[in-house]
Amino acid sequence: MEKSPVNNFPEIIKVLVVDDEQDIRDACERIISKMGCEVDKAARGDQALDMFGQAPYSIILLDMKMPGMDGLDVLRHIMDKNDETIVIVITGYATVETAIKAMKLGAYDFIPKPFETDQLRIVVGRALEKQRLKDEREKLEKERKRTLADLAAEKSRIRTIVESLPNGIMVTNVDGQVVLMNPTFSWHLGLDEHQGLGDLVKECVADDGFCKFVRDISQGKHMDPGNIPTYEFSLADEKYLQVRGRPVLGDTGECLGTVVVTSDITTIKVLDRLKSEFVAKVSHELRSPLSTIHEQLAMVIRDLAGQAEPEQDLHMLSRAKEKTSGLISLIGDLLDLSRIESGTVCHEPRPVQLEDLLESIVDFLKIKAESKKQTLTFQRPQEDLPKLTADPLSLESIFGNLITNAIHYTPEKGDIRVDTGLEGGGIRVDIIDNGFGIAEKHIEKIFERFYRVKDENTRYITGTGLGLPIVKGLVDSLKGSLSVKSAPGKGSTFTVFLPVG
Ligand code: ADP
Repeated sequence: MEKSPVNNFPEIIKVLVVDDEQDIRDACERIISKMGCEVDKAARGDQALDMFGQAPYSIILLDMKMPGMDGLDVLRHIMDKNDETIVIVITGYATVETAIKAMKLGAYDFIPKPFETDQLRIVVGRALEKQRLKDEREKLEKERKRTLADLAAEKSRIRTIVESLPNGIMVTNVDGQVVLMNPTFSWHLGLDEHQGLGDLVKECVADDGFCKFVRDISQGKHMDPGNIPTYEFSLADEKYLQVRGRPVLGDTGECLGTVVVTSDITTIKVLDRLKSEFVAKVSHELRSPLSTIHEQLAMVIRDLAGQAEPEQDLHMLSRAKEKTSGLISLIGDLLDLSRIESGTVCHEPRPVQLEDLLESIVDFLKIKAESKKQTLTFQRPQEDLPKLTADPLSLESIFGNLITNAIHYTPEKGDIRVDTGLEGGGIRVDIIDNGFGIAEKHIEKIFERFYRVKDENTRYITGTGLGLPIVKGLVDSLKGSLSVKSAPGKGSTFTVFLPVG
């Protein structure tokens, strides 16, 4: 908010000169007008009081000895009406006693008669300064009151906006106590209005993950403004919430608490589930008739093989068989994926010596690599790796898919290497090829369902675009991570990290 300048345009100060001597009145008017004031004059006390009653004067020069009402009386009346008026008494006979009386009644200063021009200028100058300070003080006070009023209006405006937001908002302090929550947040969490304010987060939100999420933010674990952490959780009544949060930072960057925003993502979740169910259903419906066709074609091919010139028929039927087997593998992938995504994949974890498993996969896939004159190697680590507790079928699917991809997307005579080692609290496996590589713009997308890079190199390679989503889903279900580094024309490295224990 902009501050209005104080005293930039000072009002003209009005001065009243009260004296029965015309010369004094005129002299005062001349001098004081030159000091930038507007001057009025009165020859008698009663006249002065009349004028004072009609117009506000900031400064009054008041002769003490006048016919009729004397100066002290006039001063009393003035002080009764407005004791902030600056009165300078003019004492004709220079008695200290009168001056003291006048000062006691509230006069600001006095000037003895006769006086020099400079004397008058100094005394009036002091009075003007006092008046200016007073004006300034009043303006500042007004300004302060206005600022406070603006602030209060601003606060209530922000509060109204926060209360009306369609997203839930909760703010905690550094001790993890809830200091603000809007009605949408209460509604999302099924709390009564104002319930939970002042409580610890864990007392009003019964989800450990949510409490940890808030705690992590307040402990500075998510300070990067470009990477806002999210967390999803569901409530007993099948409501799914997504939470995003940021630390609230003070002027010096210290964490004062957290602010979290909740969104109801139940509809998205339900749609997702319906989609997965649909895929599962369609796949089931397709699989059995296709398998039957496949079997029948295989039988016909076998029968035809015994005939005299079966080449033409054989060729067509073989093509048909190829197509059906492609469809069957697509459906198999779809089923795997929907099982992984719905969390119904059947894990049977047991201790696995990963080197042994990798060795057998590599041995199995070597035939495929050799058909493309590629070298496929696996270097066993010098020392045995700790055993992983995981479902061996999931691990086979992960590494089988990644090594098969490396074979597919590496040209003839290329090299594929599988490396493994200990890292942090787990095991790292790199599948390194010197094949076609993947351009930067495709990197994120290759983990999406059905996404396939279509270019000169990959045009004739068949696939479903479901392998990597399956690998990603399985790695996630094992609480691991999957990453890729790649450069077009140079090759790719897919890295899987799996935690031990
Ligand atoms: P698919 O191999 O069936 O097409 P994936 O999901 O396994 O499906 O892979 C998606 C896409 O990622 C592939 O079509 C390919 O373009 C790219 N890709 C995967 N692995 C590699 C690799 N090792 N080198 C180059 N491109 C790869």
